[in-house]
Amino acid sequence: AFYKPLRYVSIGLPRPQKTITDFEAILEGKQAIPEYFNFASDVLDMWTQMEKTGKRPPNPAFWWINGQGDEVKWSFEELGIQSRKAANVLSRVCNLRPGDRLLVILPRIPEWWLVNVACMRTGIIIIPGISQLTMKDIQYRLQASGAKAIVTIDSLAPQVDAISADCPSLRTKVLVSGSSRQGWLNFRELCQAAPEEHNCVKTKSQDPSVIYFTSGTSGAPKMLEHTQIGYGVGFSICARKFMDLTNSDIFWNTSDTGWVKTAWSSYSTWITGACLFTHELPKTDTSLILNTLCQMPITVFCCVPTMFQMIVQQDLSRYKFKSLRHCVAGGESLNPDVRTKWKSQTGVDLYEGYGQSETTLICGNQIGKKIKPGSMGKAFPPYDVQIVDDEGNILPPGKEGNIGIRIKPKLPICFFTGYLNNAEKTASCKRGDFYLTGDCAHMDEDGYFWFKGRMDDVINSSSYRIGPFEVESALSEHPAVAESAVVSSPDPIRGEVVKAFVVLNSNFINQDPGELTRELQDHVKRLTAPYKYPRKVEFVQELPKTVSGKIQRSILRKKEWGN
Ligand code: ATP
Ligand code: MG
Repeated sequence: AFYKPLRYVSIGLPRPQKTITDFEAILEGKQAIPEYFNFASDVLDMWTQMEKTGKRPPNPAFWWINGQGDEVKWSFEELGIQSRKAANVLSRVCNLRPGDRLLVILPRIPEWWLVNVACMRTGIIIIPGISQLTMKDIQYRLQASGAKAIVTIDSLAPQVDAISADCPSLRTKVLVSGSSRQGWLNFRELCQAAPEEHNCVKTKSQDPSVIYFTSGTSGAPKMLEHTQIGYGVGFSICARKFMDLTNSDIFWNTSDTGWVKTAWSSYSTWITGACLFTHELPKTDTSLILNTLCQMPITVFCCVPTMFQMIVQQDLSRYKFKSLRHCVAGGESLNPDVRTKWKSQTGVDLYEGYGQSETTLICGNQIGKKIKPGSMGKAFPPYDVQIVDDEGNILPPGKEGNIGIRIKPKLPICFFTGYLNNAEKTASCKRGDFYLTGDCAHMDEDGYFWFKGRMDDVINSSSYRIGPFEVESALSEHPAVAESAVVSSPDPIRGEVVKAFVVLNSNFINQDPGELTRELQDHVKRLTAPYKYPRKVEFVQELPKTVSGKIQRSILRKKEWGN
């Protein structure tokens, strides 16, 4: 009785099957962009076929554990069946149509991936939200996006109910839960009863597929949209050359489901036919992560740099990393020291990548290419990345400026379609033939990029330009420093000076702050050009961070400047 007949019909004409080589060729512009593309039918269903004919190793497509004995393992075929059921729930019960928007706020549970694939199959635009969103955050996202439905869990349902009346576009509320709630549909029950047959919608390559809100590191999160083809083939090269994935790998990324990194990881893993491993991680603590890495046959691992930094401060000698062979980090600067320590303690390489919610992987260390410690590596296809001035003129190697991506004469295939409802902001980051990332770096003669900081975070002291990252990297090499954030602080003579907020390691907490300050200052002077040393040092218990774990220097800076 739940299932209404479909009003739109998709025509299931068989399309010639594409392979991963084709996806890479499309990304590099060597093959034309197809008119239609759908990740579920073009990629996932292709792996199902390969699985059936034994052309893929028998590792699962999806593997989830919660650390309490519960486990879900799906082959590509099972993922197909479950996601078709979910697709029927979204389209027939929730009445969502291609192009409708759906806000999904779920912890790291299998349903998050089911809803994602179901959205691909139905052409519904998914808007992943982070689990720690407050009532106001949810209201902002529902109103800004005009989402017609929301999928979430028990703990957030009362907050959604409290604001529903103020979100006129919201029609349907779906709960992923073992129990029912007034005014809400129950996803698990509906999926169980749903039919397994579903015809994947034929999405055009340029149709929207996902909407994301940026992390909000520098201010209010911005809403942006990606296309079917952009995310569909956008990770094919990065999966192979950055993450080193093949169809026999098991990949684990720890990030929150509301952050682009989870989508990036899923698309990268599945385009190579590898297995996507997930732990529910109710709390991201280092020992849980380390134990999981040692107990499960994970071969490739991705985490934020701050987490790697916390991990390498421990003695890792009692951990045996049996299967792990490659690691990647991104989203923030990776201190070169952390890479070295990780490699020496685990024997595994740690590759750094750089990208934004607005793009896919812009640059990174590459398999088979030399790694220069401290550099974010080289540009990744399809991007032409250059250092440009504020007018979009290309600067020579060694010169510092904006990290720019060429958008003219040709827009890169994986590039956001704009900040939604904010044409002004969209226009303001385009200069000449380039899109400005808002980040500052220089490129060396070999084409390697060296990150300096977000443009807003770069400190101008007595006409020296100082990036917080280099000072923080130097500080992190001192045994007293657990973490630090470096910002500008007002100074009557120099205009602004370098100030470091430092979180101390526990065995240094009782040291004399004056002495420790001088010691840290001398330490930085020894490691970098002396003018970069922090003239002001403040010891703090913790640093302000986004839910994805990024340090929010803008909050500290505003406090310093009193605005
Ligand atoms: P908002 O735009 O809302 O302030 P955000 O920029 O943190 O938030 P994301 O799109 O999640 O939102 O993050 C992209 C940014 O993260 C990049 O522009 C850059 O500043 C930073 N970043 C990503 N990778 C790296 C890296 N490897 N090194 C240094 N910074 C990085
Ligand atoms: Mg940003």
